[in-house]
Amino acid sequence: SNALKLLLIGSGKVGKSTILLRFCQGVFFESIGATVGVDFRFSDMKINNETVKLQIWDTAGQERFRTITGSYYRNADGVLVVYDITDEETFEQVEEWVKEIKKNAPPNSVVLLFANKTDLEEEREVSTEKGKDLAESLDLPFMEGSAKSGVNIQEAFRQLAEQAYQV
Ligand code: GDP
Ligand code: MG
Repeated sequence: SNALKLLLIGSGKVGKSTILLRFCQGVFFESIGATVGVDFRFSDMKINNETVKLQIWDTAGQERFRTITGSYYRNADGVLVVYDITDEETFEQVEEWVKEIKKNAPPNSVVLLFANKTDLEEEREVSTEKGKDLAESLDLPFMEGSAKSGVNIQEAFRQLAEQAYQV
């Protein structure tokens, strides 16, 4: 089909909603305000000369483990797992998120690890090397970027969508 369901997953405040707004609208908001429940947005992407409709889901208030329900994961084609490079705890929680994804998402769904907030280099707590090592140990592709500066936001969704589209 020419539609893909993509999910944003990760601990609270890592920037999931900001990433989605940056991707879909090209803007950065200092304060988005908490979304209630789940929310999704559509965006079209050209892949292999075809227009693919991306349906991208965002969580809110469900950012603790085992609170995201099966219906969120159902029929997912790709998952962007996000942590915040200025918050080590969100990095330490990545493995748990990936476990939940493996347990709940379709077996052929693809996952990409995204390290957000690289514009805050002076507040960095998680090195690029540590991110890469974790991604490698989990067998996931890895990207660093920033919803604020826009670095690697388009690229991350493109890589995720293109991979998911091949499946
Ligand atoms: P969520 O809980 O994962 O959806 O996180 P939000 O999208 O609500 O973002 C949490 C806070 O981090 C907000 O104040 C955002 O403005 C901020 N934020 C998100 N992405 C970035 C980024 O790339 N750089 C900086 N400096 N702040 C960001
Ligand atoms: Mg949010």
